Amino acid sequence: MSAVIEGSVLVVNAGSSSLKYQVLDPATEEVIADGLAERIGEQGSSIKHWYRGTEVRREVALPDHEAAIALVVELFAEEGVDVAESGLAAVGHRVVHGGRSFFEPTLITERVRSEIVRISSLAPLHNPANLTGIDAVSALLPDVPAVAVFDTAFFSHLPDETAHYALDAEVAAKYAIRRYGFHGTSHEYVSQRAAEFLGHAPSDINQIVLHLGNGASASAIRGGVPFDTTMGMTPLEGLVMGTRTGDIDAGIVFHLARVADMSIEDIDVLFNKRSGLKGLCGENDFRAILERIDAGDEAATQAYLVYLHRLRRYIGAYMIELGRVDAIVFTAGVGENAAPVRADSLAGLERYGVVIDSERNAVRSDEPRVISTDDSPVAVLVVPTNEELAIARAAVAVAG
Ligand code: AMP
Repeated sequence: MSAVIEGSVLVVNAGSSSLKYQVLDPATEEVIADGLAERIGEQGSSIKHWYRGTEVRREVALPDHEAAIALVVELFAEEGVDVAESGLAAVGHRVVHGGRSFFEPTLITERVRSEIVRISSLAPLHNPANLTGIDAVSALLPDVPAVAVFDTAFFSHLPDETAHYALDAEVAAKYAIRRYGFHGTSHEYVSQRAAEFLGHAPSDINQIVLHLGNGASASAIRGGVPFDTTMGMTPLEGLVMGTRTGDIDAGIVFHLARVADMSIEDIDVLFNKRSGLKGLCGENDFRAILERIDAGDEAATQAYLVYLHRLRRYIGAYMIELGRVDAIVFTAGVGENAAPVRADSLAGLERYGVVIDSERNAVRSDEPRVISTDDSPVAVLVVPTNEELAIARAAVAVAG
């Protein structure tokens, strides 16, 4: 069994019911091993593990994250790469919520761990899962520095006007209610790649970044510094997502509680898991939605129009907020792959300087690319996101 390449990083992304991991060399960007455990704590859980071209898949009961990590360790030992051998420079853990405590990637010490526990009430589905990942890996690899990379960090200095809700100030302060923003690692990575690709320093340009995946968020970035983003106190706010409502009238919560006799937990599940595209048309896989639209399906068409309308509303808002926009950047599963979404979300904006080249937009590629015309005043780009690489680099930088 080969040991990992000196300087490699293990990146761990423990979600509420999944565990994604990757061993990569941040210097060469080579992915050495990766894997995904799904449906943790549910029926039908499984894991797939990939090492240098060979994939193994197991359908196996995974009652909790500890069980998942134990299996990952077993797979590393049996299939490769041997992470217990020396060579790992760091472990990078994605941690969803850093609250007002963490503004940058942070070496995990006992004190840092306690603080992540303390702020877990801000992200009750996510931070506890992240902590399980941290604990399980540190038991396995006690001598490898572990670094927490927070999804909120990039947005932790939003200006007051975009960070505050118009809520009683005392209540907001007492319960840490403000807009935090999420997907920060992706927005930061993609905006830097886009600037580099255009031959500018991030500080020289203004960008709108559209991270459109199963979760979705947009950001307005002025000179490399976030000015606004669509996700707020939690990842529920903003764009229409795969299964989340995005923006919704808070009065609907009172209405459902009073009239439908739904509990807070029921409404939480409804808004987070049974809404968005899935709620509108029964489907959150964008490929299937586009196929259904082509076949004339009304519910899928309706869902698409609602999704698009919200997206265009924010693009318009961010154009006004930034005043001058140099680049609009698409990323994540839908943004990178769904050419119709890119075309439709920017249709008719020529007079605002946004001119898409339909042939360039139709090209499929894994590389960063420009899809606007050469004389479009606003450059439109597709830049594949790579949160694992960004986390690995941050982990190495902090671990030294
Ligand atoms: P992510 O959360 O970034 O992994 O993105 C997942 C979303 O991307 C799902 O809705 C997928 O259906 C969508 N997606 C992936 N590939 C394509 C594709 N070729 N065309 C349209 N949507 C896609």
